[in-house]
Amino acid sequence: MLSSSDIVAPDKRTPGVVAIDPAIYPMLDKLYARRIERLKAQALLQGENGEYFRFLTHLVQAQRDSLAQAPLEQADVEAIYNLLKQGISDTTQLEHSLGNIQCWQAAYATLATQLAPMLPQKVAQALGTLSADKTELVKAATHLLQADYAQVDAGVAVVLWAALSTCWAQAVARKQGEGITQPLAHATHCPCCHAPPVASLVMGGAREGLRYLQCSLCEVRWHRVRAVCVACDASGQMDHWTLDNAKSAIQIETCGDCKSYIKTLRLDYDPELEAVADDLGSLLLDSAMETEGFMRVGINPFSFPA
Ligand SMILES: [Zn+2]
Ligand SMILES: [Zn+2]
Repeated sequence: MLSSSDIVAPDKRTPGVVAIDPAIYPMLDKLYARRIERLKAQALLQGENGEYFRFLTHLVQAQRDSLAQAPLEQADVEAIYNLLKQGISDTTQLEHSLGNIQCWQAAYATLATQLAPMLPQKVAQALGTLSADKTELVKAATHLLQADYAQVDAGVAVVLWAALSTCWAQAVARKQGEGITQPLAHATHCPCCHAPPVASLVMGGAREGLRYLQCSLCEVRWHRVRAVCVACDASGQMDHWTLDNAKSAIQIETCGDCKSYIKTLRLDYDPELEAVADDLGSLLLDSAMETEGFMRVGINPFSFPA
């Protein structure tokens, strides 16, 4: 593994970039289409082990179909927005709010029905059992939103998170700037929905060189200055790592101060990359960093930590 020194100084501005958008809201149909393409590419790359990636292309296609077939009602947008304003730390309040919002429960039931035939019988059964038990379903969603992932069966968690994500992302995209409930400058978690990031993106195009973190739940990207640790704000012991060469588009950023790391996708090197799919396709890098004693910042919603 090589260490690269390709770090731009904090807040170095790129000519032509007029103002930094604090948050970029998802264009969901386009995002899902890109994710499906990248998952398909990974399925081919992984050969015989590509089965899980093929399953995920169906999952994301089902999320994409739900945008057209069952878009969120305005009342659902408002209800989710109110839940986000309350925050997620009060378990009783979160369970109560989740129980009153029907759209994510319906989205989960639809996904569970559509995907069950593609899954091992045990997982398919677990999906169906949860669909039929609203109290347990609400509890499971509460565990996931509070980052208590080990409490939920790993196969169920992926489908349940996908259902929540489709609803949360639509709500946040419709509310735009109103959805920001936390200050942005030092946010390690999503300023809209409080979920952890998937990865760090170094942008290309009109935002060339700027760094955004992408939310694992509502798909919002929020700006964070580069060369500063997203977990502890220190900048003294930052390193970038790749598996092959320093110009690799998929990198790891480590902080020696707090021993955390985050996956970094260089969209300026490869604009085709997609955070969730390409992070999942490069988990080898994560294993290498964990062997070195670094802890990951954030999650991949298709591979929850055990
Ligand atoms: Zn979010
Ligand atoms: Zn740090």
